[in-house]
Amino acid sequence: MKPTYSYACKDYPGMEACPGHFVAETEDELWKLMELHASAAHEEDPSAWSDEDRAYIKTLIKI
Ligand SMILES: [Zn+2]
Repeated sequence: MKPTYSYACKDYPGMEACPGHFVAETEDELWKLMELHASAAHEEDPSAWSDEDRAYIKTLIKI
């Protein structure tokens, strides 16, 4: 079975109420889903995420 990459938005501090949960076959695809969700659901601008933000989010990705 292939590994999957998943991310639960509620794992991010302050997002406990968010039901968003994403699963993808590659980490690259997962980031696209997370970025789309962040802009669509949380009105965030993923292009403004710092390297530290991305490094932290990466620790929340489950493989
Ligand atoms: Zn969310």
